[in-house]
Amino acid sequence: MDFKFTEEQDFFRAAVRDAVDRLIRPRVQEIDEADDFPMDLWKQFAELGYLGLRHPEKYGGLDVDVMTAMIFYEELARGSCGFAMTVTMQILMGTYFIARFGSEEIKQRVLAPAVKGEKIGTICFTEDQSGSDLSGTRTTAVKKDGGWVINGRKNWITSGPICDFCTVLATTDPAKGAEALSFFLVEKGAEGFSTGQKIDKLGSHGSVTGELIFDNVWVPRENLLGEGPGSGIKYSTDILNEVRVMTALNACAIADEAMSDARKYALERVAFGKPIGKYQLIRAKFANHWAWYEAARLFAYKAAWMIQEGMDCRDECMLAKMFATEMCMSAVDEASRIYGGNSFAMEYPQQRFFRDARFLLFGGGCHEVLRNALGASYIRKGG
Ligand SMILES: Cc1cc2nc3c(=O)[nH]c(=O)nc-3n(C[C@H](O)[C@H](O)[C@H](O)COP(=O)(O)OP(=O)(O)OC[C@H]3O[C@@H](n4cnc5c(N)ncnc54)[C@H](O)[C@@H]3O)c2cc1C
Repeated sequence: MDFKFTEEQDFFRAAVRDAVDRLIRPRVQEIDEADDFPMDLWKQFAELGYLGLRHPEKYGGLDVDVMTAMIFYEELARGSCGFAMTVTMQILMGTYFIARFGSEEIKQRVLAPAVKGEKIGTICFTEDQSGSDLSGTRTTAVKKDGGWVINGRKNWITSGPICDFCTVLATTDPAKGAEALSFFLVEKGAEGFSTGQKIDKLGSHGSVTGELIFDNVWVPRENLLGEGPGSGIKYSTDILNEVRVMTALNACAIADEAMSDARKYALERVAFGKPIGKYQLIRAKFANHWAWYEAARLFAYKAAWMIQEGMDCRDECMLAKMFATEMCMSAVDEASRIYGGNSFAMEYPQQRFFRDARFLLFGGGCHEVLRNALGASYIRKGG
């Protein structure tokens, strides 16, 4: 066993941290308050090559391995959670199916500009009536004139209101449930494709989220991303492992930011004649957090390593996501208690950590659903 990152990975982490410290941190409050997409920041991250983190050099990408990508996701979430959401969505789900299944022509037209930050991509699973249960997908794709006609509405789509293209999950046979789901590429400008209202969110400000509407949108045959109708769920599982571990490391970063900030407060804030950090009950909060944080982070990197090694690790990725997110919920709660009443004031960062962290409970799968799957798996095969 070797718990060290390579020298290159340490170097890469330092470079990402530097970019986050210089470009994002000074603007975190501004991004949170404005709740607009920071396009200038997006362009700066594109210039640094990060939007092509996992894509081949041929399309302008950095083509780094899974472990290195995870380092990026962790460091990025130390800045603005909303900006991190948009960037990671572009790198992972927003472009994954295009990179894997798109024709060369589609890759040149869509993927290469996405890597440069010139186009913004989305992934569209969720609908008003189906979130966790994708077999309830009502968006349809019907064969017509050598292509497909897409009808339906998607909701809660990260970057939806500003997107240039989207990967849409649709059914080619509503009676067949999950077996008939496939992904289709739809690009801005397609007749019948429009964006709805931006959702006013609790947290993750700086990422813009909203509805997408498909009203008789015709796309050519090659916009079906995958080997024929019905491949959607199978391919989602492959990328979901990576998304879940990314979410776990986002959770570790937010938890660490919240508790590090609370640590400074505990050193300065005086009550009953001494800094509150001298009281045992406050110290216990840091001790508990430390143990849970270390465990969550180790587990997340172990799951990342399993993905990289090509191992069967669906359960480990779900466990890592669930554990790290629950750790993060506890950390932002305890950190805000250390802050006392000031945790409620918008001028301090604790309220933002508290709001931002909530998204982690849903992204990559709600914990009730993950527990269902994990419990069944444990009963079937043991731990
Ligand atoms: C900020 C943000 C950004 C998002 N971005 C995107 C995006 O880019 N693209 C996209 O497609 N979606 C996106 N989503 C949607 C997200 O993926 C869904 O919220 C998530 O899949 C859960 O679906 P739901 O909200 O419909 O909850 P539901 O599936 O309706 O679940 C509601 C509750 O029921 C529970 N539940 C459901 N099934 C079971 C079961 N079998 N057993 C026990 N409990 C169960 C859930 O755990 C949850 O507690 C985003 C959401 C947010 C908040």
